[in-house]
Amino acid sequence: MRYQSTRDRAVGITSAEAIAQGLSRDGGLFVPEVIPQLPPGAVAKLAGMPYVERAASIMKLFLDDYGEDELLAFSKAAYGMESFDDPAVAPVRKVDGETYCLELWHGPTSAFKDMALQMLPQLLAAALDKTGEKKDVCILVATSGDTGKAALEGFRDVPRTKIMVFYPEDGVSDVQKLQMTTQEGGNVGVCAVYGNFDDAQTGVKKIFSDEAMRRELAEKGVFLSSANSINWGRLLPQIVYYISAYCDLVSSGAIKDGEEIDFCVPTGNFGNILAGYYAKKMGLPVGRLVCASNSNDVLTQFIKTGVYDRNRPFNTTISPSMDILISSNLERLLYDVSGRDDRLVSSYMRQLQEDGKYTVTDAMLREIQSVFQCGSCSDEETLRTIRDVYDTFGYLVDTHTAVAFSVLETLRRESGQRRKTVVVSTASPYKFCDSVLTALGGDTGASGLDLIDRLEEKTGTKAPYPLKSLRGKPVRFTQAVKKEDMPDAVRRFLG
Ligand SMILES: *Cc1c(COP(=O)(O)O)cnc(C)c1O
Repeated sequence: MRYQSTRDRAVGITSAEAIAQGLSRDGGLFVPEVIPQLPPGAVAKLAGMPYVERAASIMKLFLDDYGEDELLAFSKAAYGMESFDDPAVAPVRKVDGETYCLELWHGPTSAFKDMALQMLPQLLAAALDKTGEKKDVCILVATSGDTGKAALEGFRDVPRTKIMVFYPEDGVSDVQKLQMTTQEGGNVGVCAVYGNFDDAQTGVKKIFSDEAMRRELAEKGVFLSSANSINWGRLLPQIVYYISAYCDLVSSGAIKDGEEIDFCVPTGNFGNILAGYYAKKMGLPVGRLVCASNSNDVLTQFIKTGVYDRNRPFNTTISPSMDILISSNLERLLYDVSGRDDRLVSSYMRQLQEDGKYTVTDAMLREIQSVFQCGSCSDEETLRTIRDVYDTFGYLVDTHTAVAFSVLETLRRESGQRRKTVVVSTASPYKFCDSVLTALGGDTGASGLDLIDRLEEKTGTKAPYPLKSLRGKPVRFTQAVKKEDMPDAVRRFLG
């Protein structure tokens, strides 16, 4: 199977090349030239397998230059019991008769980015071998918190890779900082940058575009790459859990094989929900996909009007991983619903770059609205929802998942219908103790680690082990640099 670029459909490369390159040279994102279909009887067959086998056989449909055994080995390394604290990997919990919750946070960093970042490094390392790349890869990440830690865990000790993460000295929580500075592994580096997230991000971008640095590193046998969510190798592992959730619901008797079910997804960069869209396109009986936003509701406005307009204030919310104005993965949806019109997509992306906005055609908007529903909610509604869901069902959700519950409830009230829906849960409530305790009326005046204990006491639930065990873990990385000195930090790291 060949991969095309969303800005040039004539690009025809293998899946390994697409994963090794990450982003197409024309600025577009890689997509498979056709979306493979689930063979008849696939759900029944997959339902009888454990998650690691489901992942290998679903990914194989897209990766014909990877072997089945190879993918199974990657899958075991990614989702085994050393990394995930639930044997189901991505378990589905029943909330009420029409509502289920898909928990994507049982991995090493207690948030859903693990689902992709436990797999991508292995796909990437293998892609270097398959494409005959002689140099090793060094991943550079600027993080506002969650992605950096998930990338460190995913790349740790993966052959032919190194990873260096920069985080803003005044931009991450105590717990997030500790998660990164105590990171284990022989190929990892972590460094604070004086300033905010933008400073760290700008610094990394500068290194990427520095030709002299590129040449210097090439002489050392290293090239730079990123682990951001536009790489196909990050999107693909996310398709798996939609299909897996459907299989689990069939197995448990909650739905019949063939019955449609909706998914409601807390959305930022549009990666997670796009994976659900691909699962539907593969033939999985998905009804609607609900795109839930916080007050940064650029996607909600887009789905309602067909106008994508990033010229708007940026809000800092209690669901920070959804605080985004440019949802890069939307480009893949535009490509699909335009009938793979690479010139049209290129022109939208040019308009976005130049004017910060574009308007899709009526036909595209109709197509999008036939699949996607949307809604947004404020921080107050998010907090109220955390309390309501806990009081009503005894189920504790984090601030991102609460956005999805809130939007779903609003849509149900407005339509008077209660369609069977899986709410996609993207983080453990223990990652956002401060807000969750506030929602439950608890006392929040304490440091990050103490708040974890307090939330356990208040709810009688247990914090995930990786968060709980941060106390007492040795700090390995204490370096902090000025933005201008980031290239030197990379040089020192690479020796
Ligand atoms: C990244 C993230 C999201 C948003 O996912 P996208 O794929 O960017 O839409 C939602 N919740 C949490 C906890 C996240 O870390």
